[in-house]
Amino acid sequence: MYDVAIIGGGVIGCSIARELSRYQVRTVVLEKYAEVGFGTTKTNSGIIHAGHHSSPDTLKGQLVVRGNTLFDQLCSELNFGFARIGELVVAQGEEDIPVLEHLKKQGENKGVPGLEMWDQKRLQREEPNLSHKLVAALHAPSAGVINPYEFAFALIENAVDNGVELKVDSPVLKIDVVKDGFVFHTPHEQIASRFALNCGGIFADKIAQMVGLNDFTINPRKGEEYMLDKRLMGLVRRLIFPVPKPTTKGILIIPTFNGTIMVGPTAEDTDDRYDVTTSYDGAKQVFDFVSNICPSITERETITEFAGLRAVSNTNDFIMGPTNIKGFINVAGIQSPGLTSAPAIAEYVCYILKGEGLVLKPKGNFKHHVPGPPRFGTLGIEEQQKLIKENPLFAKIVCRCELVTEAEIHNAIDHGARTLDGIKFRSRAGMGRCQGGFCTTRCMDILAKRLGLSFHEITKRGGDSWIVTEMGKVKNR
Ligand SMILES: Cc1cc2nc3c(=O)[nH]c(=O)nc-3n(C[C@H](O)[C@H](O)[C@H](O)COP(=O)(O)OP(=O)(O)OC[C@H]3O[C@@H](n4cnc5c(N)ncnc54)[C@H](O)[C@@H]3O)c2cc1C
Repeated sequence: MYDVAIIGGGVIGCSIARELSRYQVRTVVLEKYAEVGFGTTKTNSGIIHAGHHSSPDTLKGQLVVRGNTLFDQLCSELNFGFARIGELVVAQGEEDIPVLEHLKKQGENKGVPGLEMWDQKRLQREEPNLSHKLVAALHAPSAGVINPYEFAFALIENAVDNGVELKVDSPVLKIDVVKDGFVFHTPHEQIASRFALNCGGIFADKIAQMVGLNDFTINPRKGEEYMLDKRLMGLVRRLIFPVPKPTTKGILIIPTFNGTIMVGPTAEDTDDRYDVTTSYDGAKQVFDFVSNICPSITERETITEFAGLRAVSNTNDFIMGPTNIKGFINVAGIQSPGLTSAPAIAEYVCYILKGEGLVLKPKGNFKHHVPGPPRFGTLGIEEQQKLIKENPLFAKIVCRCELVTEAEIHNAIDHGARTLDGIKFRSRAGMGRCQGGFCTTRCMDILAKRLGLSFHEITKRGGDSWIVTEMGKVKNR
């Protein structure tokens, strides 16, 4: 019997797991995919928002600023990729300036630090590659970029180090409400717990329905993102936002933590909870828009593209709290800025659990740190040579585009990678210009040997996403 079962190992489930692991609480995370973070958590813009975009009347508007402030401490403890590069909301005409002023006031009232209006001259000096037609901007220095998958991996690794149990490939298919809690049915086993936290992302309404709750719906909103060639690195130094629309913050220019520029996302409502395809229309929308703001960006620079699904609830806000079913707590409707708010959501959920009767007695021996990946390609020559002396596998380059070594592939597997995407998102092998053309078979070879699998058992992201089939047919879905 666990105290708490967390359904869903996205950034929200992993943040809560880590927060709960500070206490003497028996926690289990049930995740349907082969690894954590493989839902919306790995398909977003990777922005730690400053917090001035969302209204203080909403739960998301209240938690985002607190979430933002927690990232420096978290990054120093968990060593994921994160940098506060700042953000500019740009005005394309004089009519946009009152919107910037409103955002500034809204942010200041919420405690967002350092908000400043920049005139055209300052904007051109600071970001010379943006269109000279832009008339002004609102600067928010506390906004940042993050590798969201690294964040989720580090959170769960630390939670597991502190006693949380993680069960991957464990979709919850059915939930029995019993006298002292719940019994969760997965394909492999039945698990009992006193409390249930519904962190199921775009499936959270379906999970609530398993205990008979029908009081909210999740309506997926798809966002397509386009990753550009690294030779554009440095084209813009800050996150570039247009003035926001009611349903979206708009199409953005995002200098990612690793220097690659990404553009997007679109915002299209969809009924299909599995549709993460990109489209001609999406690309056109993104590049038509972005080229007005930064004329040197063209579609020809695209090296890869992906889409993610926002879990938009019928209230258009986070839905968090106890329900009519005692012990069943929703952490649902976590659309943007859910990634930013995740650490604050975790604190808030612990507060809710305490209110519902869970005793949170701190552990004396809580471990705060995980080491983070080696990142050979970012080191100076002397540091690289030192690593090679310690471990000659640092001298073997597996991914040429991102300069990822064999030692880093082993490190990714040591820290939980079980699929090609698990390796890619932990080490960056396959993330560069050739998109795995060179390193995929090398990664498969190492993964097969380390896990004692044959080539045709290796998957891209678990399930039936095999790269090759036994008959030699290429599948790569
Ligand atoms: C295009 C896009 C851009 C975004 N950009 C940003 C941004 O820049 N900044 C920001 O703050 N936010 C952003 N967001 C929002 C952010 O990505 C989400 O708020 C966040 O990832 C939500 O995390 P989650 O854990 O709730 O969901 P998920 O990551 O989807 O996790 C839910 C998990 O539940 C699991 N699950 C579902 N059903 C079951 C079941 N029956 N049994 C077991 N497991 C189950 C799923 O497999 C999944 O892993 C963006 C979202 C999108 C789509």
